[in-house]
Amino acid sequence: LLAPRANFSTSALPKPVVNPSIEYTKLFINNEFVDSASGKTFPTVNPATGEEICRVAEADKADVDKAVSAARAAFALNGEWRSMDASHRGVLLNRLADLMERDKVYLASLETLDNGKPYKDALLADVELSVKNLRYFAGYADKIHGTTIPTDGPYFAYTRLEPVGVCGQIIPWNFPLLMQAWKLGPALATGNTVVMKLAEQTPLSGLHVASLVKEAGFPAGVVNVLTGYGPTAGAAIASHLDVDKVAFTGSTEVGHKIQQAAGASNLKRVTLELGGKSPNIIFKDADLAYAVEQAHFGLFFNQGQCCCAGTRTFVEDSIYDEFVERSLERAKKRTIGDPFDASNEQGPQIDEEQMTKILSLVDSGKKDGAKLVCGGARHGDRGYFVQPTIFRDVKDNMRIAQEEIFGPVMQILKFSDIKEVIERANNTQYGLAAAVFTNDLDKANLFAQGLRAGTVWINCYDVLNAQTPFGGYKMSGQGRENSEFGLRNYLEVKAVITKLPNKNA
Ligand code: NAD
Repeated sequence: LLAPRANFSTSALPKPVVNPSIEYTKLFINNEFVDSASGKTFPTVNPATGEEICRVAEADKADVDKAVSAARAAFALNGEWRSMDASHRGVLLNRLADLMERDKVYLASLETLDNGKPYKDALLADVELSVKNLRYFAGYADKIHGTTIPTDGPYFAYTRLEPVGVCGQIIPWNFPLLMQAWKLGPALATGNTVVMKLAEQTPLSGLHVASLVKEAGFPAGVVNVLTGYGPTAGAAIASHLDVDKVAFTGSTEVGHKIQQAAGASNLKRVTLELGGKSPNIIFKDADLAYAVEQAHFGLFFNQGQCCCAGTRTFVEDSIYDEFVERSLERAKKRTIGDPFDASNEQGPQIDEEQMTKILSLVDSGKKDGAKLVCGGARHGDRGYFVQPTIFRDVKDNMRIAQEEIFGPVMQILKFSDIKEVIERANNTQYGLAAAVFTNDLDKANLFAQGLRAGTVWINCYDVLNAQTPFGGYKMSGQGRENSEFGLRNYLEVKAVITKLPNKNA
């Protein structure tokens, strides 16, 4: 669970490796680490300092072609992967999970260095949830099967659930390890092969996991992991004629491009997990102290860089001022700084571009007439830190109430009427998540039904796990990840019909 754990003490955590050595910087194709065809590399930067950590190989179309060929060869009908027992695919996935657990301190440290997230979050959210996710899907590997069908006529019909084939997977930088696990688990449990492109901002942890894929014993070519930029390597995957499916997590803007590229090439299957502007609705009958803490967590967790962040906090009018006041007190206590220091709750934003975008949206909020309660500026002058920021008196039509900010900026809006707030909450192009805080069961159920979002949390926020489907309505995406719904995206259904000598009931 991502949600804060009661009575959790950071002193119980294993100490991070503050300067983790970097072992893998090349492309992982056919179970080998190789240079890019062009020989080009690009820098990855520590967002807490702005300094280069190291350079990694820069894949482009030629490398995507090579990785797709390897994945296609590994998908050959009589090859090792396709003829492996399904239960053994589960064994391999469990081994991968075990190896990630063995290396959890190193992986979390690498993530903190490359992404800037607090080490505690990297360990407890990214690594721990990734391990659980892989184990969940490992258990599914030999439980995926078709059905027999009572067909008209003297025929016997059954379905086979088969892997789609070569799957392109393009992931973002906000939860690099977790997004990698969410994509690898269901794809491999169902017997596909993979060409994954990591986010250019955070290539390091995913390359280490690639080395663990080999150590776990996956046959060569089953998993290929590339580092490179979106418009080159990413676009080459989305438009590739020999890729059967593409799964993407990132911005809605790029989601459009992926869909278009798939449509213009070979109509590959597409699943998308995109942006959000999730409403979090707080009623006066909620436990106020708890709701304030959860709303704070639901927005500020991961530096506000969550697709499901509760960025539109709707508060009932009679408790509005008190809610704002208490949220301000909580934000003032938020500790920000070196993400390796366990006392810090907040690290830097991922890069200068995101920091600049966040600060320009803050400016638009001020210009549009929202009242800045706290923050609103860069924190310090080194790295890409942004102060915890709260706006009150936010109106639905302001940019800060409509656009994804992807930073530590909370919008508090006022409501007075149940019907009105459902409509306002739904009045967005997005539909990823929503939450409601109330002690009235009828109200909670009304919202659970009325909100057009893939997830509705009642009296909690950011409770995400392998067992529960996750994905968006409207422009927040297509398809679901996690749970058995997550498997469906990686399966084709084949109907097999055989003539029988007789028809007997
Ligand atoms: P992005 O969508 O540009 O990048 C996500 C991934 O897509 C990266 O691996 C990137 O290299 C790749 N990509 C980019 N252009 C591509 C293309 N034309 N074809 C194929 N792949 C491509 O996201 P970003 O630029 O890193 O962040 C911009 C905004 O996206 C953020 O401010 C935030 O609003 C949103 N975002 C959302 C999520 C999410 O989980 N939903 C994650 C990251 C960013």
